[in-house]
Amino acid sequence: MAKLSRLDAPLIVGAGVAGLSVALGLDRAYVISAPDAGSTWWAQGGIAAALATDDSPRAHAEDTLAVSGGLAGAAAVDALTRGGPAAIERLIEMGAEFDRNDQGELLLGREGGHQKHRVVHADGDATGAEVMRALNASLGETVTVIEGRVVDLVRTADRVAGVITAAGKQRHIYVAPAVVMATGGAGRMYSMTTNPPGVTGEGIVMACRAGARLADLEFVQFHPTALLAGKDPMPLLTEALRGEGATLVDPHGRRFMDQYHPMAELAPRDIVARAIFWQHDRGSGAYLDARSIINFHERFPTVTAHAMSVDLDPAHDLLPVSPAAHYYMGGIDADTHGRTSVDGLWAVGECASTGVHGANRLGSNSLLEGLVFGARVALNVSDHMVDPVGDLSVPKESLRLPVLPGPALEDLRKIMWDRVGLVRTGDGLWEARNAILELGPILRRTIAGRDAADLGLMMVMAALRRSESRGGHYRADYPDLDPTQEHRTLIDTGAVETVVVG
Ligand SMILES: Cc1cc2nc3c(=O)[nH]c(=O)nc-3n(C[C@H](O)[C@H](O)[C@H](O)COP(=O)(O)OP(=O)(O)OC[C@H]3O[C@@H](n4cnc5c(N)ncnc54)[C@H](O)[C@@H]3O)c2cc1C
Repeated sequence: MAKLSRLDAPLIVGAGVAGLSVALGLDRAYVISAPDAGSTWWAQGGIAAALATDDSPRAHAEDTLAVSGGLAGAAAVDALTRGGPAAIERLIEMGAEFDRNDQGELLLGREGGHQKHRVVHADGDATGAEVMRALNASLGETVTVIEGRVVDLVRTADRVAGVITAAGKQRHIYVAPAVVMATGGAGRMYSMTTNPPGVTGEGIVMACRAGARLADLEFVQFHPTALLAGKDPMPLLTEALRGEGATLVDPHGRRFMDQYHPMAELAPRDIVARAIFWQHDRGSGAYLDARSIINFHERFPTVTAHAMSVDLDPAHDLLPVSPAAHYYMGGIDADTHGRTSVDGLWAVGECASTGVHGANRLGSNSLLEGLVFGARVALNVSDHMVDPVGDLSVPKESLRLPVLPGPALEDLRKIMWDRVGLVRTGDGLWEARNAILELGPILRRTIAGRDAADLGLMMVMAALRRSESRGGHYRADYPDLDPTQEHRTLIDTGAVETVVVG
């Protein structure tokens, strides 16, 4: 029998930038988080915000919309970019130390797709760790952090009412007046990814099982430059390097990006990523040449450490690169206040799909999204808390299945990379569907395997449905953008069969 705790304040699932930003905006909150650190700690390049005198939230919004493949929502982008400067101010008040010049002014970097220098960073390329340090240091007695792996949402007849955690065979139900999903992205669905362990998209699948609508599951952002050195996760070579003048070259040192886009190395991510993919496909290989960057080791200590760990010195060596799954634009459909299609459930950060990124995210907008939308969600949650009444139910399997996946998950990740990756075709997607169904009985022996199989299948079906190329979704059999498909993909599957638990 599961243990039951009734909480007197909202429950946030996930302790990354998004989850902690919600918690800090509430009078009282509980944050439940798995031991895996999540992506925020790993973020390198920085946070985009219109802080320069020649910049404005409107210009930031225009750049965000320009790379979004026509699918970003203007209201969401407006909320994000207008909220940028104040979000950075708040972080600084909390004690975050960003890099500054000798005059004490914030140093602003520039990344692909940004027309202005507007990326705030810390310790060169360790921005995420500094953000997390500042947010964690600000958690006072109003926030209670619980360690636990959430495996499903708990419902009453008319709303989400809490979560159920699993540790071995033990189950613990937490009932709360509001539940906020902030579980991060889904990069680990792919064998080639920059995302750390735990970033598997399971929060998205849980929300789906509880009846929440999902959106844009076909849109995955592949970062162009992950270090190709046999590591999992693949070390990220931040886009800021290209902003500082690093170039992409073939093994003979010849640049190739100007053949693909007028902005060359600073073209939108999907274009740079596919160019590198094709270089590999042709057998040419692709390298990042960052040797022109002065004081490389001091300015990019994280990248230096990653490269040195495989005996490469970025100040002297070309760095072999490959694209890798990096950011998930798809997720739980949520409005600009984080409200989902189910009462009692909010979603924020990378697990949410608010339409703020459309089909393609502008670099350094996601830490900002966690900060800005986290604060907005907190305000909305405060106004809509309801103590759940009535029978509590959970999906039956979550009470009995073991949690951790077996080796079949690695097969699934490979299928996703090979068939649902940067360059997709209808035939390849059907092959992926069949292969996942074949693996299904093995994967479904555990909760994590089942979640990965379900998310993989939904991603494949969304990618099949979109017979065009747009943003992060590229179909070699439909290489052009089709104006009649300029709409989001919404998936409503309805809640699954549940059992009453209390
Ligand atoms: C290498 C790398 C570099 C990046 N660089 C940048 C950058 O420079 N700028 C930028 O804007 N973005 C960057 N990104 C993207 C950015 O880091 C993420 O989009 C953002 O941090 C997501 O924040 P989040 O709070 O939504 O999720 P996360 O930070 O991933 O946090 C998710 C939380 O949910 C918890 N969780 C997940 N599942 C469960 C579960 N079942 N039960 C309980 N808890 C659970 C995790 O333990 C974690 O605490 C980078 C990403 C990576 C991987």
